[in-house]
Amino acid sequence: MTTLHTGPDSIYDVLGIGFGPSNLALAIAVHEHGAASSSGDGLRAGFLERQPRFGWHRGMLIDDATMQVSFLKDLVTMRDPTSDFTFLNYLRERGRLVDFLNQKTLFPLRIEFHDYFEWAAARVGHLVEYAADVVSVKPVTEDGEVRWFDVTSRDPDAPERLTVRRTRAVCVATGLEPHLPPGAELSNRVWHNSELLPRVDHLLRSETPVRRAVVLGAGQSAAETVDYLHRRFPGAEICSVFAKYGYTPADDSPFANRIFDPEAVDVFYAASSEVKQSLNDYHRGTNYSVVDMDLIESLSRTMYQEKVQGTQRLRMMNVSRIREAASRADGVRVTVEFLPTGERETLDADVLVFATGYQPRGIGDHLGDIAKLCLRDEEDQLRVGRDHRVETAPNVTAGIYLQGATEHTHGLTSTLLSTTAVRAGEIHASLLAHRSSPAATATTSRG
Ligand SMILES: Cc1cc2nc3c(=O)[nH]c(=O)nc-3n(C[C@H](O)[C@H](O)[C@H](O)COP(=O)(O)OP(=O)(O)OC[C@H]3O[C@@H](n4cnc5c(N)ncnc54)[C@H](O)[C@@H]3O)c2cc1C
Repeated sequence: MTTLHTGPDSIYDVLGIGFGPSNLALAIAVHEHGAASSSGDGLRAGFLERQPRFGWHRGMLIDDATMQVSFLKDLVTMRDPTSDFTFLNYLRERGRLVDFLNQKTLFPLRIEFHDYFEWAAARVGHLVEYAADVVSVKPVTEDGEVRWFDVTSRDPDAPERLTVRRTRAVCVATGLEPHLPPGAELSNRVWHNSELLPRVDHLLRSETPVRRAVVLGAGQSAAETVDYLHRRFPGAEICSVFAKYGYTPADDSPFANRIFDPEAVDVFYAASSEVKQSLNDYHRGTNYSVVDMDLIESLSRTMYQEKVQGTQRLRMMNVSRIREAASRADGVRVTVEFLPTGERETLDADVLVFATGYQPRGIGDHLGDIAKLCLRDEEDQLRVGRDHRVETAPNVTAGIYLQGATEHTHGLTSTLLSTTAVRAGEIHASLLAHRSSPAATATTSRG
């Protein structure tokens, strides 16, 4: 069954695809502008999310994990500190403002920030449809001009139920997807860390014995996974396998941190591709394959304590790679190679976790029809305007905005929360400008 919302009165100004923090921030910007505007000139916006309810990396909501960004970089403050969608207002409404201040931290618990996101998402719930997996975006042409897109979504629990909505612009913010090493095969006992919490809960509830777990990776998620498994399975050996000599600490020093300032996006955007590349290379250590120093020190302390006690459960298999992983019904046999000597060790493990990172989803295959309208640079990367609007062929006046998959044009903040509030404001302003003057498409997006 297909439901159509494509009549002239039901055309959206913007449809957001995905409803994580990025499009949530945009929904708030739209909502606040609409509420403040006396002439009713707010945008007609909708947001489609495949999950049945709001959820931000639920599989990694480890009880004591903290945010890696200041709470002041919430959904609105950097755009408008007077908004009532701030984290501080959330705290006030939850009755924890004073208690939070007494913690003397800028970095709330991840579960607390998740609750803040849920609180904010509920307040703009009228703009969102959950259980709406976007399966296609098709251009609609009139007089040779692509003026709209027809966005088709499907309910994951009732795949035969399709809904088509027409819009003047889409904002694609489909986030990150798990990255696996080539040839990796997932099973009941082999997972990506994005599934950590439900998988561990299942093992514990079913009283499945876990005597050994192997974790591949050396980034923040890998270290958190090692620590979590070590705590949840107190009788198990936890083997941390990675090619480095040791975990690298995240660089959150004050000058390096400026790479996440809104101004840094301007500087990055204007730079040549060589300078862009070198900035991303210099500052990768702020985000990629690095671990918070506190966690590194805590794991090291645990290892030493175990050495003293003669019960070594936490094992660092450094300068090593997994050469083979063979799943069996009740576990997985993992072959680990120590790279300096080539010596191999076979581990019979109950669990293998690939904590091998994430990659942006970007405009994926399911959006193929609009991907064809987008212009690309010499390196086959999407050309994206400073206002986050993808550059398109001249006959396309419908807009495609991107959040997340723009590290090559807007820098390291693209996949992070640091500039979410500001970026949402920029996209909102661009949507308004294009609605009042569709011809702006030609100048802004190709300027
Ligand atoms: C465990 C973890 C912790 C992190 N912690 C931090 C942190 O502390 N600070 C920081 O700055 N960054 C952090 N990050 C980085 C992270 O990318 C951002 O926090 C944030 O999730 C980006 O928001 P987003 O909305 O762009 O993407 P996402 O949060 O990934 O949201 C994308 C949404 O799109 C939905 N979706 C995808 N495809 C479709 C489709 N076809 N149809 C409908 N819906 C779809 C997904 O279900 C998802 O809800 C963390 C990442 C992880 C994995």
